[in-house]
Formats: sequence, C-alpha cells, structure tokens
Amino acid sequence: MEGKCVIDAANLVKIYQNGTEELKVLDDVSIKVLAGDFMAVLGPSGSGKSTLMNILGCLDVPTSGQYSLDGFDVLKATENELAEIRNKEIGFIFQKFNLLPRLTALQNVMLPLLYRGQPEAEALALAREKLTLLGLEARLGHRPNELSGGQQQRVAIARAIVGNPKLLLADEPTGNLDSKSSEDAMQIFKELNEQGNTIVIITHDVEVADQVKKLVYIRDGKLYENH
Ligand code: ADP
Ligand code: MG
Repeated sequence: MEGKCVIDAANLVKIYQNGTEELKVLDDVSIKVLAGDFMAVLGPSGSGKSTLMNILGCLDVPTSGQYSLDGFDVLKATENELAEIRNKEIGFIFQKFNLLPRLTALQNVMLPLLYRGQPEAEALALAREKLTLLGLEARLGHRPNELSGGQQQRVAIARAIVGNPKLLLADEPTGNLDSKSSEDAMQIFKELNEQGNTIVIITHDVEVADQVKKLVYIRDGKLYENH
C-alpha cells in the first residue's frame, strides 16, 4: 500500500463565469498524494482551497485537467459512480462539522454505512466502536447541539473513518475550534495517519500546517512546493 498513488491530479483549472467576467480560481494545479501521506495545503482565504478540496473530493469537476483517484479516472465517471466513490473511498471533514442536527452522534456516524446498504446491526456496532475510540462513548445519544464544537468534530471524524475510506479530506477542520480542541483534533489525525490513513488537510492555519509530514502552499489558485 505505502507509496501507491491515491490522488493523481494534473493541470487542474477551475474557472467561474460571472456574467461576462471569468474568474480563474484554480490555475494549473497538479498534486499527487501517496498512500500513507499526511499532507496539508496551506493558503489564505480566497486562495482556492475549498474549490480544490471539492474537486479532489468528487463534489465538483474542474473546467479542465485530469484526475485519477486510486487509479480510477474520476472525470470519466458517471454520477452514480461518483456517489459511490464519495461514500466508500473518501471520508470528509468540514469546518462546520456538517452533522445532521436531528440525529444522535451514533446515528450520524451510522449514516454512511446505511447509505451503502450495510445491515443496521453492523453499522451500529462499527459506529459505536469509532465513537468510543474517539472518547465519545458517553455521548452516543446526544444530538449535535448537545455537544461542544470539539465533540462535534470528533463525531464528524468518526463518521469520516467508519467506512474505512482510502482518503480522509478535511477542509479547515480546526477553523471553528478553540485551541485545545484544535490540538486534540490534530492529535487524532496524527494517530489516524500512524495507523495508515491517508490524510489531506486544507487550512489557513500555520499551526495546523506545522504538524503534518508534507506541506504545499496555495496562492491565487496556484500550488507551490515552497513558501
Ligand atoms: P478558500 O477556500 O481558499 O477560501 P474558495 O475555493 O472557497 O477559497 O474560493 C476561491 C475563489 O473563488 C474566491 O474568490 C471565491 O469568491 C470564488 N468562488 C468560489 N466559489 C465560487 C462560485 N461558485 N462562483 C463564483 N466564484 C466562486
Ligand atoms: Mg474554504
């Protein structure tokens, strides 16, 4: 597994059309992520980070370029294939956690497994295992608004890892957290990486970027190896 290319994206361009004006948000971005990598993409607000994350996460398509995920040509995939990739191959973590407010922590974490048709008893056992791993065994029945930001993000991390995805993609995962919860979340990512998870974190936070194994920079839609 180690060393295998999980993300191989080349010459990605994303252009938004605003009336007659064209806004080039990604400008010839090429990025490779290998199995076992722990990478951050660091850049200021508006630099194109979320646009890049959405393309890498198969939530959006580039205007031009190539992208293969674990050897599969994503840009030739059908909508159904993309939905399956998002469900099975990628675990997403967002700044605002994106938990479903009416569901408990346990139900939120079960959801990706239920979507793929896994039996409820299995989904329940796996969700409970991941939440326990992240120190939330006493919070299984809590809804998001009954949890702190740090706890909500841990539920979101449990949801992202419960289906054993090939890739964890996190967009500003510490953006809504206090510094202690931020450190805890980074510690969790470190441990997940040590267990073999491939992780890409998109962030504007230098302290987050300091803790990863590979760092690249994004500015005005261009990717740089050095600052
Ligand atoms: P970041 O996540 O680094 O803050 P984004 O990728 O969200 O940056 O946005 C990069 C640029 O693209 C910004 O100038 C933003 O206003 C613009 N942008 C993002 N999404 C759209 C869209 N759907 N239509 C037009 N412009 C957009
Ligand atoms: Mg963003």
